[in-house]
Amino acid sequence: MKRVFNFSAGPSMLPLSVLEKAASEMVCYGDSGMSVMEMSHRSAFYDEIIKSAEALLRKIMNIPDNYKVLFLQGGASTQFAAVPLNLMNGSGKADYILSGQFSTKAFKEAQKYGDVVAAASSKEENFSRIPETTRESFRPDADYVHICFNNTIYGTKYNYIPDTGDIPLVADMSSCIISEPVDVSKFGLIYAGAQKNMAPAGLTVVIVREDLIGKARDITPAMLDYKLMADNGSMYNTPPCYCIYIAKLVYEWIDSMGGLEEMKKRNEKKAALLYDYLDSQDYYIAPVQKESRSMMNVTFVTGDAELDKKFASEAAKAGLQNLKGHRSVGGMRASIYNAMPYEGVEALVAFMKKFAQENPKA
Ligand SMILES: *Cc1c(COP(=O)(O)O)cnc(C)c1O
Repeated sequence: MKRVFNFSAGPSMLPLSVLEKAASEMVCYGDSGMSVMEMSHRSAFYDEIIKSAEALLRKIMNIPDNYKVLFLQGGASTQFAAVPLNLMNGSGKADYILSGQFSTKAFKEAQKYGDVVAAASSKEENFSRIPETTRESFRPDADYVHICFNNTIYGTKYNYIPDTGDIPLVADMSSCIISEPVDVSKFGLIYAGAQKNMAPAGLTVVIVREDLIGKARDITPAMLDYKLMADNGSMYNTPPCYCIYIAKLVYEWIDSMGGLEEMKKRNEKKAALLYDYLDSQDYYIAPVQKESRSMMNVTFVTGDAELDKKFASEAAKAGLQNLKGHRSVGGMRASIYNAMPYEGVEALVAFMKKFAQENPKA
């Protein structure tokens, strides 16, 4: 069967060359005589895999030496609790910017552990833009400020890094990590579930400044304690071995393509093709305000729920799958992560034109 263009928000497309490489090594990895799935995480073969995964991620993201890279489990959602347990231990306060569902979930989870307030929110505008903040928006004694850098469901993204002064900035980058260069030194902590842009589901990457760890609350579960995980090289227990191996192949792929500058160029080109089309016509509406548009998740609607449904189902038949918007917002969403080729977006735009012609609005 032919592979389709898969616009799923996550788990999502992986580069074909990565899948092929994994397939070629599936049964027997190197001279190990076994699959990566079968090998001890303490073996020399696996040690090399996890160490090169970390080294490659450090290289492509240009992660400073005073940051730890952790390969964890539990998805990004587990970090909603791990972050306050580890970081909210000075004043016991944290400020959250609410820009969509995931940041709201993170906010609600953190409220279980301390004095947590919303410093800004775009809920009133249906999360169609990134809320604006200044240094004055945040409580000066907050232990950290939390943001969601790219809002997967609404299709919005920060086009700047909020100024929080000396307060550590924590960012959920699940759906935009390694899509373009970011200045890691501007953040206290970055976390991301792997299944959008890095690997299969099951792996969560945490990048954290060293001085922020080692202050976890006594009640922090061992599995959520960054210091314990860092001291054990992410191997306090069995790590998500196979996911880390695939992440390593993805990082190699990015490195061989020219790194994150090149990814950014490609992603900008794909997103521009789709947004330029959306801006050139009036059949489809793009609800997100222009300055907050995501390069990874592009949302649009026809304005008619029945037509939206028809669009997603006919697109799927044409080999353009998973274009239905998130169940909470409806409409359409095209997730165009690193692995989505330009041709996939070309095919989508061609389909959109055809659909608009064949389905005039009443
Ligand atoms: C998908 C996603 C999550 C949830 O990730 P899980 O790994 O399923 O817990 C959180 N935040 C963002 C921005 C996401 O895109």
